[in-house]
Amino acid sequence: MVPIGQPYRPAGSLDVRSILITVILGVTAAVIGAAVVWLWERSPIPTFVVVTHCVQGMFVGGVMAFAVGRLRMRTPTLIAVVGFACGLLSVFFVHYGHYVSMVTSAASELRVQVAQDPTIPEARRKEMLDKLDTDPASVVDKLLAMRTGHAGFIGSLFLRNEQGFTIKGQHHTGTFVWVLWGFEALIAALVAASVPGAVASRAYCEDCGYWCDKPTDLITLPAAVSEDMLQALREDHPARVAELRSNPPPFDESGFLDIALHNCPGCDLCFANVTRRFTKKKETKFIPVVKMLRISPEAAAALRGTTDAVGATDQVEPEGQEDDQPEADPFPQEVAGDWHGEHGQPRTPA
Ligand SMILES: [Zn+2]
Repeated sequence: MVPIGQPYRPAGSLDVRSILITVILGVTAAVIGAAVVWLWERSPIPTFVVVTHCVQGMFVGGVMAFAVGRLRMRTPTLIAVVGFACGLLSVFFVHYGHYVSMVTSAASELRVQVAQDPTIPEARRKEMLDKLDTDPASVVDKLLAMRTGHAGFIGSLFLRNEQGFTIKGQHHTGTFVWVLWGFEALIAALVAASVPGAVASRAYCEDCGYWCDKPTDLITLPAAVSEDMLQALREDHPARVAELRSNPPPFDESGFLDIALHNCPGCDLCFANVTRRFTKKKETKFIPVVKMLRISPEAAAALRGTTDAVGATDQVEPEGQEDDQPEADPFPQEVAGDWHGEHGQPRTPA
């Protein structure tokens, strides 16, 4: 387990079963995602340069993320690598789908031509039609090689590249199309890697076997306490934390310090996600100060204000402060109460 004062590090083991399941699910998602995009590209619905491949990547990544969450896989690097590969694979399947449909349609056209051509001797015609029925790819591949200099799937890419496509009324072929295809593949792969990767890097309690993903508290303090608060959390000084929380300096233009606490649902393991928030040019900006820092149960209690430890000397909060921190509410205490209530004996009046 991560020591107090240190950021969370995923500690998942690489077991064969999890790897296999991720790969199988990833490849399945890649095939289904590719089928959807292939149909989309053939349908009259317009495809979008980046959006279509983002959707494809999100689909592949989403399916993998579901498995990662359920199987409690804590190997973000492996998951991201598998996701990246499956994203690329999905894009490859779309191109391969276009090749297969090119073979099918070219073969059926050739079939009509051969059947109707009176100059072909009967024996030769039968042979050609047989060939088109049993192995249409070999016939089409030869034509592709004659046309583009490359047989098979690669030839189909060159042919489609030559044909090109139109974006905003402008027709593109050649290098532009190659670069765009590469870019689209990269987008899909990056999205497919990042979605399940993020899920696998969430904080996890190795003792209880739970994800600590839902923040149980959100405390908002003036950004001026950032450094002191971070030091107090890192060095585990609950008294100092309580003091900073109960007696903070006034809010100013430097903004807010948001502290979200992520608790294990089964024990008192707690991680603090600390973010600075401020408004610049009417835009709210969020700067992560520290991600998933493990803090002691005492420091967590001090942050929640549920401790009657030191720092309780000054309970009177400055006026007007409550307006500035609407997020710091007593909700989590009620949740905690209910949670314990579930596990305790029902109290009935004697
Ligand atoms: Zn736990």
